[in-house]
Amino acid sequence: MSSEEFDVVVVGGGPSGSTVASFVAKQGHRVLLLEKETFPRYQIGESLLPATVHGICGMLGVADEVEKAGFTRKLGGTFRWGTNPEPWSFAFAISPRMAGPTSHAYQVERMKFDDILLKHSRKLGVDVRENCSVTEVIEDAERVRGVVYTDADGTRHTVNARYVVDASGNKSRIHRQAGGERTYSDFFRNIAIFGYYEGGKRMPAPKQGNIFCAAFDEGWFWYIPLSDTLTSVGAVVHREFAESVQGDPSEALSQLIEKCPRIADLLSDAERVTDGVYGQVRVRKDYSYSNNSYWRPGMVLVGDAACFLDPVFSSGVHLATYSALLAARSINSVLAGDIGEEESFAEFDARYRHEFGLFYEFLVSFYDMNSDHESYFWQAKKVNSFADSELEAFVELVGGVASLDGAFVDAESVRTRFRNTAGELERSVAQVDRTGGDDATPLYQSEIMGSVMEQGTQIQVQAALGGDLDPSDALFEGGLVPSADGLRWAVSAER
Ligand code: FAD
Repeated sequence: MSSEEFDVVVVGGGPSGSTVASFVAKQGHRVLLLEKETFPRYQIGESLLPATVHGICGMLGVADEVEKAGFTRKLGGTFRWGTNPEPWSFAFAISPRMAGPTSHAYQVERMKFDDILLKHSRKLGVDVRENCSVTEVIEDAERVRGVVYTDADGTRHTVNARYVVDASGNKSRIHRQAGGERTYSDFFRNIAIFGYYEGGKRMPAPKQGNIFCAAFDEGWFWYIPLSDTLTSVGAVVHREFAESVQGDPSEALSQLIEKCPRIADLLSDAERVTDGVYGQVRVRKDYSYSNNSYWRPGMVLVGDAACFLDPVFSSGVHLATYSALLAARSINSVLAGDIGEEESFAEFDARYRHEFGLFYEFLVSFYDMNSDHESYFWQAKKVNSFADSELEAFVELVGGVASLDGAFVDAESVRTRFRNTAGELERSVAQVDRTGGDDATPLYQSEIMGSVMEQGTQIQVQAALGGDLDPSDALFEGGLVPSADGLRWAVSAER
């Protein structure tokens, strides 16, 4: 059995794995990434948040490439949810922290998106090996020391490394080596069933790229426009209605669509894709959990290997890539000898759990179908105390920037971008927020909204042209702050 030495070995080449590998390689460390499949490979999780496509992809240096890939631009979300019988919408542009040019995300075919990130890791010097499956974690009494993997020919190899990052998603069992237990949520005990359609209708501009979520008696549907003609459609069904997803999955999905008139209408002229990678109707369950240990000496868990909540606000890839950044900061800090392992990973752990907790608390209340959209905004304000208004709190939370991490609200880059685009700002905010169209919702037409938007616009201009954003404050008393380049931890000046 051959044996090699690396600083870090990453297990899994999804968004969490490629992101952590890239951020560590950027600091000059030797990184090996082992992926058991050959990319591009299928994955669910297609609706992204601005925090990922601008914050993380910007820091990785891959934002332009992602933009050029031609993914559907997502300006926000539209919901038929709660007591309001009519759909209501939100636009990311309402938040001053997701100012003008960064006020959108993308709906992506994950095969393409994940492949772009993995290829980018290679460009940054990561040794990426596909068709290589990790089978064992090497450990001793003190710490994890490496992995054993099997390559495409079935040959076994040993890799010794200072850190093993488990980014192997929710199906692998490698996370067990970090100690602790995986606890499944009692609340989010849902089952998802999903497929792909050609020819589905689109909402009127500018909402044609929005994710549409429609509640119905047994759960809710997502409707994600992946291209002008291809749509990802999935039902999330509460476990008490599990019999609805028994039997032939394609039959079950069709029957569920019939029970949700708004989705049935959008698909009235559409045909389900029946061949190729999108031809299968898939079912997923037991996907809402969190491990009670996210790290131990020599090993750290990121992305779905650590936790996942629920598809409703597209938090999966955000939590995956954000946790990857946090883990990279901790690894880089320890490898550079800046900060001790315990303190460095305690910061990773606290920030990761904080972000997961924000979404958890908010989503529990969001699933309360007896509330209206105003109550959801109010609930968002309770969990995101940084925002100036309830609506902003909601949009920041669902845009992935509520933690105010410098990676997502980089004041200097916002300023630079706005110096160039300041002239367009008022126009773009006005256009995007007054979304127009019949279901633009009373929300966007009300006086309160008008003044919130006006205030939002002013704050955006202020932030862009010399405002007072300080994203680098410690999130917790006595905690660490991101370094100036965002790739390590630093000790706060106030400590
Ligand atoms: P993955 O993307 O799963 O990548 C893990 C990689 O590790 C895989 O490529 C796998 O092949 C590899 N691997 C596994 N075991 C090994 C091994 N032993 N050795 C080597 N490699 C290995 N998120 C969103 O952001 N938006 C959405 O709209 C959304 N919708 C969702 C809908 C449903 C029904 C579900 C269940 C999830 C959804 N998600 C969504 C969540 C999203 O799918 C995940 O959070 C995201 O894919 C996690 O990325 P990751 O890199 O951690 O894991």
